[in-house]
Amino acid sequence: MRYYSLNRTSPSVNFQDASVRGQAPDKGLYFPENIPTLPDGFISSLKEMTPEEIAYHVLAPYVGDSIPESVLRRILQETISFDIPLVKVAEDIYSLELFHGPTLAFKDVGARFMSRCLGYFARERKEKLVVLVATSGDTGGAVANGFYDVPGVEVVILYPSGKVSPVQEKQLTALGRNIHALEVKGNFDDCQRMVKTAFADDELMGRIFLTSANSINVARWLPQQIYYFLALRQWEDLNKPPVFCVPSGNFGNICAGLLANRSGLPVEHFIAAVNDNDVIARYLETGDYYPIQAVPTLSNAMDVGDPSNFIRIEEIFGGEWETMTSRLSSVSISDEETMATIKRVYEQSGYLLDPHGAVGYLALERYLEKHPGQKGIFLETAHPVKFPESVEAITGKPIPVPDHVLPLLARPKVSTLIEPDYATLKNALLHLA
Ligand SMILES: *Cc1c(COP(=O)(O)O)cnc(C)c1O
Repeated sequence: MRYYSLNRTSPSVNFQDASVRGQAPDKGLYFPENIPTLPDGFISSLKEMTPEEIAYHVLAPYVGDSIPESVLRRILQETISFDIPLVKVAEDIYSLELFHGPTLAFKDVGARFMSRCLGYFARERKEKLVVLVATSGDTGGAVANGFYDVPGVEVVILYPSGKVSPVQEKQLTALGRNIHALEVKGNFDDCQRMVKTAFADDELMGRIFLTSANSINVARWLPQQIYYFLALRQWEDLNKPPVFCVPSGNFGNICAGLLANRSGLPVEHFIAAVNDNDVIARYLETGDYYPIQAVPTLSNAMDVGDPSNFIRIEEIFGGEWETMTSRLSSVSISDEETMATIKRVYEQSGYLLDPHGAVGYLALERYLEKHPGQKGIFLETAHPVKFPESVEAITGKPIPVPDHVLPLLARPKVSTLIEPDYATLKNALLHLA
């Protein structure tokens, strides 16, 4: 498989180069040259296959000869080594629980796959790979966990001091070994700026093998297709496919679902559930795309004012507006509605949503009201314990922390406090390599 740049001036590359580079030299996102079609009978035999087998068949065409079959199978087994259950929450509404991974959010799937692929490439090149990432909270944890103890890879995470939640901070700073946390005396924009300066520093790039763990990386984007198939594997009636409702920010997750659908996954319709950051909801209504300055909401992982993956969605539909709007809608949900939904669903069924899942639930419910006879799945993208302030205020009780994350929370925070200045970062990077 070759990948071309959506800016269309850089040459096409294979899976290895696309994932090591992250972004094309012309700053475009990489996109597969052709979208594979799943073999006949694949969908009807989903229930007989193991999750690993399904994942392999979906991903193998995208990876091509960049990774040998036995290695890819092992990587995929490690990528989905936790449960992804489909749980009935209300009549016609099901939750695909993507929060059973090590950092309690769906980003674990993409981060684990990418980290293992990059680890394999670093070993092949016999070069030490340094992964540099700035985080405002969630991404850093998934990336740190994914790369933890991967041989040949050092990870440097920049995060704004005092601006991430206590659980998030432990996820960034308590692992140790090859994970190095730099606590920046500044805000997320300072961290982001320092990372960008590093990637633009030719002298540095010539001395170390540096890559980013950005969410637009194909190795993070593509494996997200897997759990749409795993949802269908648990669906009763494949002749009556579900509506999928995806809480969306940068639109990578839903874009993976649309790609899977193109390959042959049966889906009735897609809904992008968004919060007050409703650029795409407006676009699908009016045809006008106006990026905004992101506004803060309770579902903060979706606070994105100019979603970077939307351009891939347009590419999937070949730029055809009519086709896109017939397959994809978007519903915007306010913070007030999010809170009311967490409360109502908890009271009605005892099911505890996190704010992102609540946005998905309500968007799906609204859609189904207008389309009787259909059933749907919303993606529950994070565990409610990651957002205790909003959720506990509603339920009035502390949310139990899943056992598997307790050991990490008990470990000490280890970070290096630095000024928001590039020379300090550069020094740290050269020291590692
Ligand atoms: C990142 C994130 C999202 C948004 O996913 P995109 O792929 O950026 O659309 C939704 N929910 C949670 C909990 C997240 O961490």
